[in-house]
Amino acid sequence: MPQTSETVLEFTSFHIGYCRGPLAMTQRGAPWRMGRFPAGVALLRHPVHGTILFDTGYGTLFNKATKPFPERIYRWLTPVTFNPADSLPKQLQRHGVGAPDLVFLSHLHADHVAGLFDLNTIPPVITSQAAIEKLAAKRLASLQAGCPAMLRDRLKALPLKAVESLPQLSLQPYGLQAFGIGYDLLGDQSAIAVALPGHGFGQTGLFLPKTSKGAIFLVADSIWSFQSLQRNLPPPRFTLHRLGNAAAFMDSFAKLRAFHLAQPQVEIIASHCTESYPLSPSEVKI
Ligand SMILES: [Zn+2]
Repeated sequence: MPQTSETVLEFTSFHIGYCRGPLAMTQRGAPWRMGRFPAGVALLRHPVHGTILFDTGYGTLFNKATKPFPERIYRWLTPVTFNPADSLPKQLQRHGVGAPDLVFLSHLHADHVAGLFDLNTIPPVITSQAAIEKLAAKRLASLQAGCPAMLRDRLKALPLKAVESLPQLSLQPYGLQAFGIGYDLLGDQSAIAVALPGHGFGQTGLFLPKTSKGAIFLVADSIWSFQSLQRNLPPPRFTLHRLGNAAAFMDSFAKLRAFHLAQPQVEIIASHCTESYPLSPSEVKI
């Protein structure tokens, strides 16, 4: 793969809480027993631009935002375990980070966003134009879009920047041209935003050509596990219809699978994959 950026990002990842849900909802042919799905966060360190987060996991605001009815339905459907001792600021501290310099949100589902509001100071936040527009939705529509009203309102109060306002970049050099045009997050082609439509509204991943762990593609919820991509087993249609646009999801899934087969050396990290975000022994026991 041609390297167009000289910058090497230092890559770390961790998860903030997890939810439980039937495995059969995430992969065709999987059993109906309950699985545990970590809420993954990627921490990128750039030599000039500082610390960048890809998503922010669960946080204290999730509990508050899903207390009233009908928002409570969210936690009934996906019961969440979140330990405040593992909040975003606490885990950043463990990695030697005081405050992140930039946050990239793949989409605005609560499990990717809630942790942001545990930070003392919220840095600039980038997400897609479609995700920002969806924040205009009324209470029920926003809940259906995975963003309870309290979270929606906190997000709306932020000066969110649209991915689409970043400089455009051809994805051809990376073999990702099937995904359309990319956006250069930091201006040096070290982190490239790639649209992954089909899940939620305006889902966007981040391709990292050079990191301390090699090339990485952060694909958010376009797959639930790396294994499902390897085995070509997308989620069943009823899940896809509930969580986004089924046809667009299948299209993104097919493109991602073709990319993986062509470039197996690129590590593909899904936000809720236990291979990428292993649960701790205590989390498995509970
Ligand atoms: Zn998610």
